[in-house]
Amino acid sequence: MTGTSPDLTRWSATDLAAALAVGEVSAVEVTRAHLDRIAAVDPEVHAFLHVGADGALAAARAVDDARAAGRPLGPLAGVPVAVKDVVTTQGLPTTAGSRILAGWVPPYDATLVTRLRAGGLVLLGKTNMDEFAMGSSTEHSAYGPTHNPWDLERIPGGSGGGSAAAVAAFEAPLAIGTDTGGSIRQPAAVTGTVGVKPTYGGVSRYGLIALASSLDQAGPCARSVLDAAALHEVIGGHDPRDSTSIDAPAPAAVEAARRADVRGLRIGVVRELGGDGYQAGVRTRFDESVQLLVDAGAEVVEVSCPSFEYALAAYYLILPSEASSNLARFDAMRYGLRVVPDGVDAPTAEQVMAATRDAGFGDEVKRRIILGTYALSSGYYDAYYGQAQKVRTLIARDFEAAFGRVDVLMSPTTPTTAFRLGEKLDDPVAMYLSDVATIPANLAGIPGMSLPAGLADEDGLPVGVQLLAPATHDARLYGVGAALEAMLLERWGGPLLDRAPALPTTAPTREGVA
Ligand code: GLN
Repeated sequence: MTGTSPDLTRWSATDLAAALAVGEVSAVEVTRAHLDRIAAVDPEVHAFLHVGADGALAAARAVDDARAAGRPLGPLAGVPVAVKDVVTTQGLPTTAGSRILAGWVPPYDATLVTRLRAGGLVLLGKTNMDEFAMGSSTEHSAYGPTHNPWDLERIPGGSGGGSAAAVAAFEAPLAIGTDTGGSIRQPAAVTGTVGVKPTYGGVSRYGLIALASSLDQAGPCARSVLDAAALHEVIGGHDPRDSTSIDAPAPAAVEAARRADVRGLRIGVVRELGGDGYQAGVRTRFDESVQLLVDAGAEVVEVSCPSFEYALAAYYLILPSEASSNLARFDAMRYGLRVVPDGVDAPTAEQVMAATRDAGFGDEVKRRIILGTYALSSGYYDAYYGQAQKVRTLIARDFEAAFGRVDVLMSPTTPTTAFRLGEKLDDPVAMYLSDVATIPANLAGIPGMSLPAGLADEDGLPVGVQLLAPATHDARLYGVGAALEAMLLERWGGPLLDRAPALPTTAPTREGVA
């Protein structure tokens, strides 16, 4: 991405920020360009659930005015950003992709949104997602799926398919996602973008609608490692409003990305995350990335993490258990939807609650609430939830042992490229398997990045490579990621997204983005 295209939506966030800083472009111009792009392509892509055009333009104008007045501004001031609809935004609807929150407008901002606004970033709107972030395809959204910009018949990944697709379709240069089991990294992999799940506690969870509190982490979605680094620095760092927030500043991600060096670095390829069950084209692109790093002077060894075999099973006990507790707050009394059952005189609170949840929650959400309630019930708690927590400890120990030998770990991000819409909708376990490679990092709380490794030979679709680092060493991911990205850009003769097919466009009208 260079800053030379006449179309501002093709610019990187870093290039936009540099041009804004010297007054070469205005924030209003940049914002308008992105709103027009949304109006033109989002009817096909459906990355957005809500677009706040007026608020975005007002925020952009405020940045332009502040700059004209010579007031100090953040490094990304005037750059637009899209935010996953699971993050609360004052004055902008927040539904978490669920019917049960239809029409809810939060009275407050999540801490990360406060930081975006304070940094002068311009909120374009809220992006589509699987209901309450449960899913790997965005098909569980109550508002219809998002389509992958590479092939509109395919899934953009999930649960944060909207954020990844918005970035891949040049509707936003940056977006915010959340990753509980892979929902930033897996959509990044299948859309040819960059996504980072920070260390648990590295980005405040205050104002995130909780899925599984011990696993959830918000993080950046972008088209380059450097852009992701810049966004990470804006949203990261200690927040007293989140009791699990790490008492440390945001990682020096930008500096690491600019240094981009891998000489002498020890890299471990995880034996259990690869091989059988991984698409041939995914394996080829992954092996190529490993070779590039070797050529650049990194030392690559194979490491084994035997407990990863049980990660998916443990995750699908821990996540539903926490979710069943977190989602109890949707009781028809406090937020959003309220359904009064038909034909009942003076219904009780329980009857209203049941009718509201029946109508307001989708099948996947109900499935997980039932599973989690069962796993936590007395008599089964030790057998299921307790066992899963023990596995979690074993996985953390596998990582610890591995990081005793190497600086970063590496694997494909996903076993396959983007599958077709509808292909896995009736098979929850097949859908769950999309996250086999991303889930261990959430269970252990460590940071992970997915970056585009190239296109699979058999289908021409993007493949993601995953990098993992020890907790609080997020900066390391940016250093290795940027180095690998530079070599891959050379290998592919430019950004992969330049090869994505042009999207059908609808004539841009302001009404289209109301
Ligand atoms: N796909 C995984 C799930 O459905 C991960 C979701 C997430 O990270 N929010 O649980």
